[in-house]
Amino acid sequence: GGPKNLVMTHGCRGSVLKAEEIHQNDPRQRLVILGSGWGAVSVINQLDPKKFHVTVVSPTNYFLFTPLLPSATVGTLELRSLIEPIRRLLSRLGGYYLEGRAEDIDFENQLVEVTGIHDSEGRKFYVPYDKLVIAVGSESMTHGVEGLEHCSFLKSIGDARDIRRKVMENFEKASLPTTTDEERRQLLSFVICGGGPTGVEFAAELYDFLNEDLVGYFPAIPPEEVQVNIIQSAGHILNTYDLKISEMTEKKFQRDNIGIVTNARVVKVNPKSVVYKEKATGKEFEVPFGVCLWSTGVGMTPLVKALVAKLPAGSQSNKHAIETDGYMRVIGTPEGTVYAIGDCATIPQPHFVDKVMNLLQENDTNRDNVLSYAEFQKLAEKIIAKHSILKVFLSHLDKIFEKYDRDHSGTLDMTEIRTFLMDAEKQCTALPATAQVANQQGHYVGKRINVLHDIEQNPEAVAKLPQFAYRHLGSLAYIGGNDAVLDMGKGMVYGGIGSEYLWRSVYFSEQVSIRTRLLLLMDWSKRALFGRDISK
Ligand code: FAD
Ligand code: MG
Ligand code: MG
Ligand code: MG
Ligand code: MG
Repeated sequence: GGPKNLVMTHGCRGSVLKAEEIHQNDPRQRLVILGSGWGAVSVINQLDPKKFHVTVVSPTNYFLFTPLLPSATVGTLELRSLIEPIRRLLSRLGGYYLEGRAEDIDFENQLVEVTGIHDSEGRKFYVPYDKLVIAVGSESMTHGVEGLEHCSFLKSIGDARDIRRKVMENFEKASLPTTTDEERRQLLSFVICGGGPTGVEFAAELYDFLNEDLVGYFPAIPPEEVQVNIIQSAGHILNTYDLKISEMTEKKFQRDNIGIVTNARVVKVNPKSVVYKEKATGKEFEVPFGVCLWSTGVGMTPLVKALVAKLPAGSQSNKHAIETDGYMRVIGTPEGTVYAIGDCATIPQPHFVDKVMNLLQENDTNRDNVLSYAEFQKLAEKIIAKHSILKVFLSHLDKIFEKYDRDHSGTLDMTEIRTFLMDAEKQCTALPATAQVANQQGHYVGKRINVLHDIEQNPEAVAKLPQFAYRHLGSLAYIGGNDAVLDMGKGMVYGGIGSEYLWRSVYFSEQVSIRTRLLLLMDWSKRALFGRDISK
């Protein structure tokens, strides 16, 4: 059925029936979720099974606990301990899973076009939806650099497995009598492109491995021959965290002999070396490597690129993600049917300051070219309605008004309004691509869809539903040697004694099932007792 006359499925066996005909067998609303990561699973956990017929489409048939993935690269944790089968998570809902990749979406006919992952013939089929949640995550950004095929990535279980194999292989090769000094130095050089949390945690895990296991197990390798270098384009590593955190981490890494090159851009990756350019001087340097990890920011998956391109002109303008409104609904799609969450989605940021003149004229009802307190109140209400993120910033309006009325004239003039709008705009930075954001957005959308199911016929009640509001619960990163750093937002940072346990317990309680919790506990105790598993 459908415009391309493909097989149509309702989750299980396919047929060439029309979507409506299949629908008659099960009158529940059809909810289709694309992806099986943080965003998707958090939607699933909120859903009421009586209300929805749920189908998940994803190329990976498991949920991956990404924050602990760096620990799997050197054998601190077993890969199996970090995943939970999506079918198990879906069983509460009696939901369906299709191991496939969404290739395209027909927004008008409400159909997702899917290809099975292991279908060598590449046959396509349709999955019809009443509501769709896009949670397909992101891909590593390439920045147009040549030679990335020589790099390792760290996004999936397969990636972690490859890195682990390479690390062990290199240590074994470096121990052979036939290996020359030069070869050994190359094999034992680890270069990390990108100083975000993933790169930093990989460096930390390597450091732990070198200190805790290398000396005992690889007596032929002098520890000082192992080199770890991070190349970062910004001025600091962990540059999305509080500056104190960055500095703390940098100091620790200096003590640990982990090299950090900041303000430098990788320009090319050769099979066995990386070329980077110092931003200030333009000078180029070449570093040989045995393993090179590429982890520099998030970019669009092919599906997201295709969707952004086909949505109506003018509705999408971001280069890294799909734009949604404050309710996580994709801008430019038929209202209320398509949501996007997590790494693949972003809520566009306001550009108040460009519009100072307009905002003044629109709100200055008595046309005296300044805003009275009453006029300012109206403006604030409009701003909050569009950008719920500013609710807190604008909560004590009288105080705000006093603060920006610099000349105490009892009104805000053009310059005063401009300063106010500039500060308001600063409060609205785009949300980071983290599990925490995806998790909260999934939770929000799941709840919203549940409620909508019952009140959708009542536009007034629908209009009262709140927008998504992010609560930052803190960022953390493991930096090696039993140290972790936490950034609780608003300048509260913590590191040092006990932070490792805090770090573990946070992830521990966020685990999705008792099974994985148990596996993690076993891994950590095993390592404490016997050290890491150093086989391949
Ligand atoms: P994902 O969790 O990536 O899920 C995307 C899903 O979509 C996957 O199941 C994928 O298979 C599927 N998919 C892809 N394409 C398609 C398609 N065409 N059709 C259907 N399905 C598709 N965040 C933190 O907050 N704290 C941390 O400590 C942290 N550490 C991290 C460490 C590593 C090594 C990595 C890689 C990430 C880390 N993150 C961390 C970031 C966090 O993992 C992401 O922000 C989060 O996974 C985003 O969730 P998501 O649901 O948007 O995407
Ligand atoms: Mg997801
Ligand atoms: Mg996002
Ligand atoms: Mg006025
Ligand atoms: Mg004034």
